[in-house]
Amino acid sequence: MSERACRECHHIFHGSSCPHCKSKNISDDFSGLVIIIDPENSAIAKVMNIKEKGRYAIRVR
Ligand SMILES: [Zn+2]
Repeated sequence: MSERACRECHHIFHGSSCPHCKSKNISDDFSGLVIIIDPENSAIAKVMNIKEKGRYAIRVR
């Protein structure tokens, strides 16, 4: 199964709904990838409003 990204929180995952925010507003058309290891101290995490570590898509269509 291909990876999908959540349109709500940009989390990348396998499955039919986002394990992070439970949203079903998801897409398999995404680009860019950021891995957030330490959201407290990550400038990217702040810009993208990410509060949990994980893998995120930069753009979700
Ligand atoms: Zn989500």
